[in-house]
Amino acid sequence: MSKTITLLGSTGSIGTQSLDVARMHGYTIFGLAAHSRIEILQKQIAEFHPRYVAVVDEAACDRLEAELTGMADAPRLLRGTEGLRTLAAMDGPDVVLNAVVGIAGLPASLAAIESGHDLALANKESLVTGGHLVTDAVRRKGVRLLPVDSEHSAIFQCLQDQHSAKRLTKILLTASGGPFFGMKQDQLAGKKKEDALKHPNWNMGAKITIDSATLMNKGLELIEAVWLFGLPEDKIQIVVQRESVIHSAVQFADNSVIAQMGVPDMRIPIQYALTWPDRLPSPVPELDFAALKSLSFDVADEETFRCLAACKKAIRKGGLAPCAANGANEEAVRLFLQDKIGFLDIGRLVEGVVDSQSFGGDYTLQDVYDCDAMARAYVRAHL
Ligand code: NDP
Ligand code: MG
Repeated sequence: MSKTITLLGSTGSIGTQSLDVARMHGYTIFGLAAHSRIEILQKQIAEFHPRYVAVVDEAACDRLEAELTGMADAPRLLRGTEGLRTLAAMDGPDVVLNAVVGIAGLPASLAAIESGHDLALANKESLVTGGHLVTDAVRRKGVRLLPVDSEHSAIFQCLQDQHSAKRLTKILLTASGGPFFGMKQDQLAGKKKEDALKHPNWNMGAKITIDSATLMNKGLELIEAVWLFGLPEDKIQIVVQRESVIHSAVQFADNSVIAQMGVPDMRIPIQYALTWPDRLPSPVPELDFAALKSLSFDVADEETFRCLAACKKAIRKGGLAPCAANGANEEAVRLFLQDKIGFLDIGRLVEGVVDSQSFGGDYTLQDVYDCDAMARAYVRAHL
């Protein structure tokens, strides 16, 4: 079945893999958006001929404008964060896929939903920072939120039987454990970005790769799961599954467990979000059970990996506490990637901001931005 897609964050790891899926199935690309990597964007424009392109960084937008001048069937260029929001809201696509990284993805998610679009969501930060706004808008507009994150896609796939879904009692959220699994704080203290950027199973953007090393990613995913599936934090168990073959599982009232498996390749969950409720052939190879000798399981070490403990505290506190944890993490990861802080500082700063106030209650989008700014300022003041 033919589909028309707007893809936000097209130049990133999820963005380019989404275009692999689109290429294979001959999907039409209505709009593409990126921050500043216009060399990649130009190649995507040449191949997919989108009608609109949004570039957030002003200087990059100027460069792309110059490159597109005189080009036959050049896309219309939309500029800055406002351009990203405008594109997300535009009529034309069947679905908007948001693969922007960080809280920058939240206004685009809200714009897409408010305009009545189904949203395929890779940008977990939208739910972590503004979960209440996003899920309210989804309910009001009657649109679909289709998870792209592999664990959440797995859970979603396990819940397709509506009868069983009503009897969901527990989610088993799997985690690879990241490159530093098994290490204690004294071994982690000297870790540099070169060490943290080596993920054992997945090839992802820099920010989420660091989040996987600190286990912040699992904390963000726990919060994402609470919003998507409506279970409280204490009914979501993190299970370390080192091979990343079981992508997550669900447990029902009778203690029966159903898991979703496959080779670790994001094109499966990306494609499922686009073809749901149908399934199509995939560019991903099948799981080879003859080569798969064993699957291992372990528990996550929250004493060592404080980001995970901080995210649990944040979702229990509610309100804007998860937004604060996310903002502190985004700022801390930025500083870590610039070699300005140590690996363990990330967890210290995220936990520090969560502990710093109560955060409860309802919030507006402006409150989310204010809280994000507060959390970033907290990090800079507590180096
Ligand atoms: P990348 O860093 O590889 O790509 C991020 C994309 O977002 C790029 O297109 C980038 O543009 C764009 N971008 C960055 N900053 C902004 C901004 N301020 N405004 C608009 N666009 C921006 O990230 P990933 O693809 O790894 O991750 C994307 C999202 O998907 C994240 O939320 C991540 O947590 C989630 N995710 C990723 C997985 C993975 O396997 N990679 C797995 C599951 C979830 P440019 O290239 O021009 O900078
Ligand atoms: Mg994931």
